[in-house]
Amino acid sequence: MSRVTVPRGTFDILPRDAARRAALEAAARELLEPAGYGRIETPTFEATELFSRTVGEATDIVQKEMYSFTDDGGRSLTLRPEGTAPVCRAYVEHGMHKLAAPVRLYYLSSFFRAERPQAGRYRQFWQLGIEALGSEDPAVDAETIVLLAALLRRLGAGETRLRLSSLASPQTRADYREELGEYLRAHASELAPAVRGRIELNPLRAFDSDDPATRAVMSGAPRLIDRLEPADADHFAAVRELLERAGVPHELDPTLVRGLDYYTRTVFEFTSDALGAQSGVGGGGRYDGLVEMLGGPPTPGVGWAAGVERMLMAAGEDATPARPLDLFVAHDGARADAFATVAAARERGLAAQMELAGRSLKGQHKQAERLGARYMATLDGGEDVRLRDLRSGAEETIARTALLDRVAGGA
Ligand code: ATP
Ligand code: MG
Repeated sequence: MSRVTVPRGTFDILPRDAARRAALEAAARELLEPAGYGRIETPTFEATELFSRTVGEATDIVQKEMYSFTDDGGRSLTLRPEGTAPVCRAYVEHGMHKLAAPVRLYYLSSFFRAERPQAGRYRQFWQLGIEALGSEDPAVDAETIVLLAALLRRLGAGETRLRLSSLASPQTRADYREELGEYLRAHASELAPAVRGRIELNPLRAFDSDDPATRAVMSGAPRLIDRLEPADADHFAAVRELLERAGVPHELDPTLVRGLDYYTRTVFEFTSDALGAQSGVGGGGRYDGLVEMLGGPPTPGVGWAAGVERMLMAAGEDATPARPLDLFVAHDGARADAFATVAAARERGLAAQMELAGRSLKGQHKQAERLGARYMATLDGGEDVRLRDLRSGAEETIARTALLDRVAGGA
């Protein structure tokens, strides 16, 4: 029969990869929880409207990347393509605006986008994300950015670049879009057809183009960063100042456009040259209008999402070792004793395994070494046990009742 394979653009996480992911999760937890972030997980699918209303009808995500389906009740549902809108939905739904601000949340979940699969670009992928809601203090923007910088450093993600910009307020942005649209229409004949076709829909995306002629036009285009209202300019300057104070280097990049419509003021992205074409490790920004868009009270917010696969790729292949085995129980005609010993060892919190594949005693010794066990105990049905320290090679004979104390003491 023909084989059934994993769907295009998706992947299995095997035990070897799971260990590295668990280490990433632990690093995130150890960093974020002491900073006041609590874990949140929302459903894998949501009402389609949650994303079309917030992410933006004109964005790549809503235009072509959503996995949407209609359920038996005729409702349109979508596998979540991103985490901020669902978190804000939950914030409103659970009345979290009544909690002391800022409300700090983080998630580690899988997301779905119908993209062309390539290295570092999948149709189901994982993101670690944080959101801080209820404060417009620039220190909250800076805090989230500093945390992502710290996480990348802890993971050994190597050299990363942080680019930063401000998208101002919706009103400033709307005026600027008009201005940019006029500029683009005046240069329409020089633009790549795809860019020309998007002038009305989303002129800001013209800054993303790789087309040389378009880039030449864009180098002379008016910049939003030069149009900020004083309050937005001050906010942005404060964020930059705080990053400097925290020792987080960054570059101003007025062309930084995030692929979601809900951003206001600060936007940022970390990239890594180690990643090749898909260089974005993580990014985010402020979204002061989003909660209100979802029927909640006016609530400022800021956050980021970072790709788990891309963080692991940037961190390189130095795989985090799985937990080493404390004890391997070999046996020679005493399988029930071995079984009981392993069960008792696990009860004490030791990592223990027993021989289960019918190997000879010599083969069992090899297996213990292959597993990286610290100790191997050989049980033969008697009261005594031979215990071998596989690190030093030393061997001793001890009472079976003393075995676990001995292993726990030495492990
Ligand atoms: P890109 O420019 O690579 O398409 P994006 O701007 O769409 O990224 P965001 O929506 O900001 O990305 O998502 C945050 C992070 O999630 C990205 O920086 C990246 O690390 C990761 N990511 C986004 N899309 C994918 C994908 N299809 N496969 C794997 N990781 C992804
Ligand atoms: Mg994308």
